[in-house]
Amino acid sequence: MARHHFVPVLIALCCFAGFLEASPGDADPLYRDCLQQCEKTGCVGKKCFQHCNFSSDGNPVDGPWYLQEPLYLQWKQWDCHGDCRYHCMLSREEERQKLGYKPVKYHGKWPFKRIYGIQEPVSVAFSALNLAVHFHGWVSFFIFVNYKLPFRPNKKTYYEYTGLWNMYAVFALNAWIWSAVFHSRDVDLTEKLDYSSAVALLGYSLILAIIRAFNVTLEAARVMIAAPLIAFVTTHILFLNFYQLDYGWNMKVCVAMGIAQIGLWAIWAGVTRHPSRFKLWVVVIGGALAMLLEIYDFPPYSGLVDAHALWHATTIPLTYLWWSYVRDDSEFRTAILIKKTK
Ligand SMILES: [Zn+2]
Repeated sequence: MARHHFVPVLIALCCFAGFLEASPGDADPLYRDCLQQCEKTGCVGKKCFQHCNFSSDGNPVDGPWYLQEPLYLQWKQWDCHGDCRYHCMLSREEERQKLGYKPVKYHGKWPFKRIYGIQEPVSVAFSALNLAVHFHGWVSFFIFVNYKLPFRPNKKTYYEYTGLWNMYAVFALNAWIWSAVFHSRDVDLTEKLDYSSAVALLGYSLILAIIRAFNVTLEAARVMIAAPLIAFVTTHILFLNFYQLDYGWNMKVCVAMGIAQIGLWAIWAGVTRHPSRFKLWVVVIGGALAMLLEIYDFPPYSGLVDAHALWHATTIPLTYLWWSYVRDDSEFRTAILIKKTK
């Protein structure tokens, strides 16, 4: 979140889990047998799924006319497929655990236990908290610049980055909403929305980092910095959505944009005399450490908490601190500009 000005959050947003088709779990012949059986019989052990009641030609064995609708049928078959994968994975993991084996990945993902049908409940909860902290940070920033700080004679804020931070908030809120949705239900559409939103936030926060760190206030200069980056990020998002969702390549792009902004903020925190530079330091170091969680990528504890979920957790306090830095920055710049005009 995941995943920015807020460097660590930016990086966090870029969910770069590997989704290779062949993982150790689904290569296991016992799992494959279970899956094959399940899609034929609709049962795993004693557990059976109603929507697996199809005859070999794809028509339901019984049921009212609307069950014959192709779309509905497809959807049910897809549900059957998903349920079979999930329950075969659970039963296989249970057996493996009894034999003392550690969890393995299935179809590129760790075995998570669903809660109320939510695939990764802990990641969803942390995504929602990130969303809440961003919203709170944005509102407090908005109130601060609009009601606590003085305005210029033309009724605009003295702070030159107000609009850019508002826009940033929109990108961040959007990214965390789709992160929560994606971790609830991982399908093609939600995955693309999550990845696209994370890349957009990461790209936007890189632009913001360059503009703020170099104190670019001229409109023309800002456009010249933003244009090539917007072009690149847009092309990358179109590539992911309409050509190929290449996880490896996307990870490289996200890491490059993430490291670029962490580096920018680290250098800026090192040279500036900004009164709140220590907040930047915490965010930069915290963000870099949080990245280690994603690289370490350990299996879910109790089928619930994995490295990715913890990663989303670490960005919550960092986001809080980040918005606090943004408020301080608006106060700092305003004081300087008022002094200049006097
Ligand atoms: Zn995520």
